[in-house]
Amino acid sequence: MKLRIHHFFDIIRDFGSGKDFFPHPYLHSYHKIANIILKDPFQRVEIVIGTDSVCEGCIKLKEHACTDIITHRKDFTGKEEFNIYLDARIMEVCGIEADTVTNTVSLIKVSGKYIDNIHYIYSGNDKSHTEMRKLSVIKGVDNYIRKHGIITSRFLF
Ligand code: SF4
Repeated sequence: MKLRIHHFFDIIRDFGSGKDFFPHPYLHSYHKIANIILKDPFQRVEIVIGTDSVCEGCIKLKEHACTDIITHRKDFTGKEEFNIYLDARIMEVCGIEADTVTNTVSLIKVSGKYIDNIHYIYSGNDKSHTEMRKLSVIKGVDNYIRKHGIITSRFLF
């Protein structure tokens, strides 16, 4: 599957917060991709900038770009532009380049870098919201490790 890296961490956050994955009114494939990722730690993942497998079927996807808007920031209105900005920050801190082919467990293993730098990644967002995201991602990673029996020397926090 192709994946924007922020979608990966959104899925892990939602897993940590106990959210159920159901079809969304936008008709995108987030729930399907989430269930694959949660089930298979060796799922092949190609990190992309731009439209990914989550976007498949989305009513906001027009000519291979997201036409949705965001309302929680003053410096961005277009979701596509904001997603590109966000993905660049996450890939920077995690040391991952666009078009890298990896798998789910490898992304879990770099999640400590995402967590350690989360306030940099989301600077400009509400800080308490980012702190809640952080706690949910930590829980999601912990749940994932336990679910799949992943052994790490330092797990990253
Ligand atoms: S097209 Fe935009 S709103 Fe739809 S899933 Fe992709 S990023 Fe989200």
